[in-house]
Amino acid sequence: MNPHIDRYPAPDPSPEALAVAPSPDKVQLKDFTRSELDAYLAELGEKKFRGEQIWNWMYVRLASSFDEMTNLSKSLRTTLNEKCSLHRVSPGQMHPSPDGAVKCTFVCTDGAEVESVWIPNEDRNTLCVSSQVGCAIGCTFCQTAKMGLLRNLTVGEIVEQIVHIRRMFPIEKYGRLTNIVMMGMGEPLHNYDNVIKALHVMTSDKGLNLSNRKVTVSTSGLVNRLQTFGHDTNVNLAVSLNATTNAVRSEIMPINRRWPIEVLLETLRNIPLQARRRITFEYVLLGGLTDTLDDADRLAKLVRGIPAKINLIPWNPHPGGEFQRPAPGRVGEFVERLRKKDLNVTVRETRGLDTMAACGQLGKPGLGKRKMGRAVTPPAQDVTGATPVEEAAS
Ligand code: SF4
Repeated sequence: MNPHIDRYPAPDPSPEALAVAPSPDKVQLKDFTRSELDAYLAELGEKKFRGEQIWNWMYVRLASSFDEMTNLSKSLRTTLNEKCSLHRVSPGQMHPSPDGAVKCTFVCTDGAEVESVWIPNEDRNTLCVSSQVGCAIGCTFCQTAKMGLLRNLTVGEIVEQIVHIRRMFPIEKYGRLTNIVMMGMGEPLHNYDNVIKALHVMTSDKGLNLSNRKVTVSTSGLVNRLQTFGHDTNVNLAVSLNATTNAVRSEIMPINRRWPIEVLLETLRNIPLQARRRITFEYVLLGGLTDTLDDADRLAKLVRGIPAKINLIPWNPHPGGEFQRPAPGRVGEFVERLRKKDLNVTVRETRGLDTMAACGQLGKPGLGKRKMGRAVTPPAQDVTGATPVEEAAS
């Protein structure tokens, strides 16, 4: 019997029991940052302390209706019920894996589905959060890429994944949600404004109260957004490097044709980092393609001078995926080679492989239109984020 099963009880209660009726036409209070909520309540003629009370109900007490907010006046509750909504997504199916990971589907009011993954460990609980429905970036090793980009998630839709998970995995039974990784569906920096706002909500000390040291945003390397990222937030940054030559990186990550490795790394060298912080370089090991020992040597050279951690990810297969996992023993050799060069190296534990919840396996390719192969054209959408995503998705 898998030792994880006892330590990680099955999700309870059922998502159906937690389903709410989202109201698309109302003002979504979870789209607001703390100061925006105050400003909105001022427009309604309410005093400032009401903002703090509502924030507490939304993010600490996890209220699912305004009627639960019993310290608000009855007239304010009536106004909020008329004009506002607390939800734009509902929990859908959950797919528990024997290793403890649980893939959770969330259904948006327009029927779009996004996935988050709950990943319990001995000393922490991590949630992998999505930022978009699908993704425009087109990495050839990734299942989400096959959907193309359908749309950006709103601030509320990003934050609600966390709120619902906190309700679905109560602290008394599962322990505290300690870490957030924005590594689910989508390229977070392609939905820059909403993601930055969502990060402020996540780390608000009187709300979800996640430490900015425990929140990580992962990007394929949108250089134009990286130039402002370090000024707009101080959460952790992870960059998917995944190859050590421009030829291979351009083949597996079309974004490299726009911002090649040297441009990306130069940008990272200039990012403001707080003391003791490091940039995590994620590196997918594709058998025979990116896992040679020459790659390890080149990788060490590339990150020289950048406070770096290397996180190696043996490729996770998915239907139609054309790559191979590294040969037995190769991951260890790769690690050893990097450690000899004094690099801080970890290997990501594969979780949720059997339920398609592991890294690079999220999404429903059938919903999108992108055709994938080893050689792909750059995404049709403007990956700078300058083009409205709604237009791009049409
Ligand atoms: S790896 Fe990330 S950026 Fe690349 S296609 Fe998949 S979701 Fe998008």
